[in-house]
Amino acid sequence: MNLRQLFSSDRCVLSFELFPPKSEAGMADLMKSVGELTVHQPDFFTCTYGAGGSTRDRTLAIARSVRESFKISVASHLTCVGSTTAGLRNYLRCARENQIDYIVALRGDPPRGANSFQVVAGGLRYANELVGLIRSEYPEFGILVAGYPEVHQEAASAEADLQNLVRKVDAGADAVVTQLFYQNEDFFRFRDDCIRAGITVPIVPGLLPALSLKQVRRITSLCKSNLPAAFVAKLQQHDDPEWQFRVGVEHATLQTQELIDAGVPGIHFYVLNKSHATSRILANVSGLKR
Ligand SMILES: Cc1cc2nc3c(=O)[nH]c(=O)nc-3n(C[C@H](O)[C@H](O)[C@H](O)COP(=O)(O)OP(=O)(O)OC[C@H]3O[C@@H](n4cnc5c(N)ncnc54)[C@H](O)[C@@H]3O)c2cc1C
Repeated sequence: MNLRQLFSSDRCVLSFELFPPKSEAGMADLMKSVGELTVHQPDFFTCTYGAGGSTRDRTLAIARSVRESFKISVASHLTCVGSTTAGLRNYLRCARENQIDYIVALRGDPPRGANSFQVVAGGLRYANELVGLIRSEYPEFGILVAGYPEVHQEAASAEADLQNLVRKVDAGADAVVTQLFYQNEDFFRFRDDCIRAGITVPIVPGLLPALSLKQVRRITSLCKSNLPAAFVAKLQQHDDPEWQFRVGVEHATLQTQELIDAGVPGIHFYVLNKSHATSRILANVSGLKR
């Protein structure tokens, strides 16, 4: 189903994000988790694209295998890092041959060791240019783009970041998926700002259930999302993996329930190739329209 049709149904569109594992064992775990997650009737899975295209072939292979094994729609993430426009076109051709349904179109982060994004000669500088390329030359793909409730770290200001999102939507994005956040008020403020800026495509909150204090600190330090002090204090109460997992699930359950109650058009879970936390959260909440 194309993305616009999907989001105009009265379902709360559910998507799960995977990343390419490095080993065969990791791949087997991923497929097991995907099987477990399908009981929640997700609408699609997405697979990330590693720095500088390092996972190019694996991203496509995973998306294809999830599609074929579970008869479900899939999205490949794609970034501009380290690619010429010809390279991006070639990837999009391969994605089409592999029956990928949607593209998450991104500029990408600088590769490890580099401080800032460097545009390749003959490449693209911003995600809106990639969206434009896909929309004009590969119109069969649904297109998702990234949005930042707490503002992208390189943006000159919140307003400049919002105007960038407007450019991505004007270039042809069908929906926005947000960076992870742990305070729903950040999402609601962002959604209202998007509406004020004239963005009418669905804004889908992205949630990453915290599995441990160490993990969530590492991830939020990379993407500069705020961790509420009360949540950290609760995670810190016991240096025990089971306690921290339970607290992480409890927090994400509250976030998810509030988002469902607010009528969000969808929820995107960064599942990190695991099913247990997301499955618990989805078992805990009510009113998710499937
Ligand atoms: C849902 C989601 C999935 C992701 N998946 C991946 C992945 O698979 N692989 C990966 O490497 N990374 C991924 N990322 C991270 C993403 O690549 C980084 O956040 C990256 O730094 C920005 O990408 P973008 O597409 O948002 O960039 P852009 O939208 O191009 O924005 C980048 C920066 O430039 C600014 N900007 C944009 N246009 C202009 C302009 N015309 N003039 C001046 N400034 C401008 C923006 O405000 C922003 O600060 C993901 C992020 C999200 C939220």
